[in-house]
Amino acid sequence: MAALGTTATAQRLQSASSYSRNIHKDLLAKQNKVQDQIRVEETLKYANGLYEETEPEPDIYTEGWESDRVNPYKDANVPNTKIIDVRNYVMPISGNFVTSPYGYRARFKRTHKGVDLRAAVGDTVRAAFSGRVRLTKFERSGYGFYVIVRHNNGLETVYGHLSRFLVKPNQYVKAGQPIALSGNTGRSTGPHLHFETRFMGYAINPEAIFDFQNRTTVSDTYTFTKSNYTEARSNKSNYARRQR
Ligand SMILES: [Zn+2]
Repeated sequence: MAALGTTATAQRLQSASSYSRNIHKDLLAKQNKVQDQIRVEETLKYANGLYEETEPEPDIYTEGWESDRVNPYKDANVPNTKIIDVRNYVMPISGNFVTSPYGYRARFKRTHKGVDLRAAVGDTVRAAFSGRVRLTKFERSGYGFYVIVRHNNGLETVYGHLSRFLVKPNQYVKAGQPIALSGNTGRSTGPHLHFETRFMGYAINPEAIFDFQNRTTVSDTYTFTKSNYTEARSNKSNYARRQR
């Protein structure tokens, strides 16, 4: 009887797994058609050149203007692990090129807590998941015009250096809904979208969740593990590994 029960459970798990895989494929198919052309000059060498050119962005969760308000998780009890459902996603920008990855920047002695995605001024910026706009703000010395969206799956996403807001605080948004236009505001050396993924204030490497080049997610779920991010809320973090 026990053996039968175990088999039944295994089968259920297996079918749940293939079910979610199918959902994932459906979602991929349903994503908005976008232009994915990569220009010839987008070589690794060029990317590396951009990497050191990009500006240091102060952490809005800990250093931003009114950061007490920006980071509501300051004194929150963050769970040790959390499985985050990332199936219902839409890529935040039509391009697929990361000009500057998440990670420690020796030149500025600080961690870049998001990824910079290539974008022109005026490109449509979309909510990566469904949720509610927590705030829209301007910070001259940092992110310029930026939006933070709190999602149903527990993540928050941050969109920086925008040229225009298309949403207001407290507004509900669906995954893929245009929320802003990209730009070059704040401390920025050229038009791009600065994109962060946060769990309770912890800046997760967006490339652990999204495969930007292929415009998909790395997996249907992302498992947040607090011990991997012991310094992720400070400026001394050297966490730069890609997680799976
Ligand atoms: Zn950035």
